[in-house]
Amino acid sequence: MSDAGGGRFRQIRPFLWGATGRCARCGKGRLFSGFLKLHDRCASCDYNLATVDSGDGPAVFVILIAGFIVVFAALLTEVMFNPPVWVDLVIWLPAGVALCLGLLRPMKGLMIAAQMRNCGERPPL
Ligand SMILES: [Zn+2]
Repeated sequence: MSDAGGGRFRQIRPFLWGATGRCARCGKGRLFSGFLKLHDRCASCDYNLATVDSGDGPAVFVILIAGFIVVFAALLTEVMFNPPVWVDLVIWLPAGVALCLGLLRPMKGLMIAAQMRNCGERPPL
């Protein structure tokens, strides 16, 4: 798809950009300055990121998704192989922690993208 000037339209994908840690408005600036800490403003489009707050939303979704996956896999392993308890602890405890940490940042970016798209820019509280 191209415009009359021969350039290309940039496809807007706020949820993909948010899940990958980029600004949901422009898709170029980075959302995070640390593991979960946000920049104050987008370096590319100057969106005030201090106005968005995902609250506890990402943690709830991460707990539900990771809990389902780990508990289902642990129960399946228990039924199929009946391993000793220490094997379950060695496998599923680190897997649960790794899955939660791996999902937390993309989920927070996704929640922030949803808030930016649906609520617009608000003055800070
Ligand atoms: Zn931006």
